[in-house]
Amino acid sequence: MLREKCKPVKEITPEIRRIAEELIQTMQAHNGLGLAAPQIGYALRMFAIQISDEIDEENYPMDAPPQVFINPIITRFSKEKVVLSEGCLSIPGLHEDVIRPQCIDFEALDIDGNPFIQKELKYWRSRCIQHECDHLDGVLFIDRLPSILKKKHDAELKIIEAKFK
Ligand SMILES: [Zn+2]
Repeated sequence: MLREKCKPVKEITPEIRRIAEELIQTMQAHNGLGLAAPQIGYALRMFAIQISDEIDEENYPMDAPPQVFINPIITRFSKEKVVLSEGCLSIPGLHEDVIRPQCIDFEALDIDGNPFIQKELKYWRSRCIQHECDHLDGVLFIDRLPSILKKKHDAELKIIEAKFK
């Protein structure tokens, strides 16, 4: 399912609210910064995050209350790019520097179906949203690595894959 293109959520039903709750609980149980629906077995365009767009004095991400976003779209990517280390709950133990646009404008529905718009998002929140939106299109952060780096992790990735098959 991690490689599927997920379907838009048509209506916020009790089932969608239940999945939203499951996303938050699973994310928190595993100390994740974000978690997308396909990671827990639902090919739907929704994800949870708990990360602020501020950083502490050491450039580390700051926590924010958990939020679930439905049918998210990144409407603008900045030209400036930035390197940040990424990991993924679906690829346990692997962390690597990934280059992505620094700022984004972001739109989604919240869990009550209200439109949610944020402009000029930066730092880890921007990064986390880009990572989670990728999940909804079947893209993993390892796909964004230069081939030489991907090769470096080839054996490790095969072991992880075998373990979960
Ligand atoms: Zn991930």
